Amino acid sequence: MNTLLKEAYSADAFRQQGHALVDLLADHLATAEAGTGPVLNYQLPEEQLAYWQADFAQPTNIDPIPLLATMLQRSIHLHHPQCMGHQVSPPLPLAALTGLMTGLLNQGMAVYEMGMTANALERIVTQWLAEQLILGNEAGGLLTSGGTLANLTALLTARAIRAPADVWEEGTTSRLAIMVSEEAHYCVDRAARIMGLGTEGIIRIPTNDRFQMRTDLLEMYYERAKAKGLVVFAVVGSCCSTSTGSYDDLTAIADFCEKHTLWFHADGAHGAVAALSETYRHLVRGIERADSVVVDFHKMMMTPALITAVLYRHDADSYRTFQQKAQYLWADAEAKDWFNSGKRAFECTKLMMSANVYTLLRTYGPRIFTANVETLYELAENLTEQLRSRPDFELAVEPQANIVCFRYVGAEVDAQQLDQLNTQIWTRLVTQGAFYIVQTTIRGRVYLRVSLMNPLTTPEHLTRLLDEIVRCANIGVTERITANHPAS
Ligand SMILES: *Cc1c(COP(=O)(O)O)cnc(C)c1O
Repeated sequence: MNTLLKEAYSADAFRQQGHALVDLLADHLATAEAGTGPVLNYQLPEEQLAYWQADFAQPTNIDPIPLLATMLQRSIHLHHPQCMGHQVSPPLPLAALTGLMTGLLNQGMAVYEMGMTANALERIVTQWLAEQLILGNEAGGLLTSGGTLANLTALLTARAIRAPADVWEEGTTSRLAIMVSEEAHYCVDRAARIMGLGTEGIIRIPTNDRFQMRTDLLEMYYERAKAKGLVVFAVVGSCCSTSTGSYDDLTAIADFCEKHTLWFHADGAHGAVAALSETYRHLVRGIERADSVVVDFHKMMMTPALITAVLYRHDADSYRTFQQKAQYLWADAEAKDWFNSGKRAFECTKLMMSANVYTLLRTYGPRIFTANVETLYELAENLTEQLRSRPDFELAVEPQANIVCFRYVGAEVDAQQLDQLNTQIWTRLVTQGAFYIVQTTIRGRVYLRVSLMNPLTTPEHLTRLLDEIVRCANIGVTERITANHPAS
C-alpha cells in the first residue's frame, strides 16, 4: 500500500488527532461559557484571502491541529453569548460529535443498504416531528439539505399534485402560479423561477404593519390572477418570516386553500419549532392543516447545517415529487418504499442527517428543543422591554419570535443622517468584534437586527449590547466602512 495513504488512514493517527481536536474545541466552548474573548476577529475579505493564500503556499504539515486552530481563531464564534447576528444555531456539542461519526460512516442513503440505520432513523425522526405539528395519521416526510432545497421540493410536490398539467412529462405549457407574501424568504422566489413560473407566476401578497401576509387580499389577488389566465396551484405561508420574524395567519391561509383546492405550504424553516412549546404554539395555529411544512433543524433545533425536514400531511404525496425511474438503483421505481431515500429527496447521495437529530432526541428528549425555543423567545421579549424603556431606541415592529429589529434614534439629525449613523454603529460594532449583530433595511430605513439564537446569551449581555451601541453612536464617524456585507 502507498505509504502516504496508509498513514492517512491510520487508526492510531485518528485517535491522536481526534483527542487533540476535541481538546481544542472544548477550550473554544469554555470561552463561550466564560463569555471571554471576541466574537470575531474582523478582517477585510482581501486581508483574509491574502492570509490564506500565503498559508496555502507553505509546505504540507502532517500535524493538522495548528491549522485547525487557526481556522477556528479566524471564524466567527457562534457559541459566544454576544454573537447574535444571523439565524444559525450554535450547535450542541453532542450534535457536532455525532457529525464527526456520520462524517466517517458516510452512509450515502440513496438506497437502503447504503444507509440502513440512517433511513430507519429518518423515518422515525420525521414522523416524530409531524406528530408535534399534529399533521395527522397519514403524515410523514423526509430530510434534505437545507430550507432552500426543502421549499423547492415541497413546491414540486404541490405542482405534481395540484397543477392541471403534467409538467414532469410535458414541460411547462400552462401558466402556473403560486401566491406568497412579500416578506417570504427569497428562496421561495428562487424555487418558483427554477420551476419555470417566471415573474408573473409569483403573486406577491402585500403585508400589514407587522409584516404578516394580508390574507384579506388573497381572494382579490386570486381572482385577478385567474382573469389573466394564470393557474394558481399553491399558497405559501411564512412561519415565521426571515427579516422580522413575523408569523402569517396560517388558519386564514388554510381556509383559503381549502376553498379553492390549492396546496397549502408552510415555510416554517425558522419558526415552526414554536409548536413544541405550550407558550408559543399559538403562533403556528393552523399549521396542522398544511399539505407540506419545512423545518430547519440547523436554525432553532441546535444541529449543525444542513438538516431540514420536509413534512407532508399525506406521506404518499412525497413519492409524486420526482417521478423518475432509475432501474440500477431501485428494483421497483413505483413502490412507496420509505427506506430508499433517493426516491423522494432531491439528493442522490445525502448526509446521514437523521442520526444527528435522533441522537439528540434519545439523549436529551424533545424537551431540549422546547427549552431552547422558550429561552430564545423569552430573551427577545426581554430585549423588547429594554428597548422600550430606553428612549434612545426605536423598535421596527413588535417581535413575535427571537428576531428583533431596532435602531438608535438618540441623535438630533434628519432621517438620512440617522440611517448613516446606524450604519456607522453597526460597522464599528462588527469591526471591534465584541458583539455580532446584522444590519437590515426596513421600509427604506436602516435598522439593526438581532437574532437571539444562543441560549447562553442573558439579559445582561443584551444590556451590554445596547450600552455599546450608545457608545458607538457617540463616537461618530468611523474610519472603516467595509464593503459587501449581506444585511441578512
Ligand atoms: C432560513 C430560511 C430559509 C432558507 O433555509 P436554508 O436552510 O438557509 O436554506 C427559508 N425560509 C425561511 C423562512 C428561513 O428562515
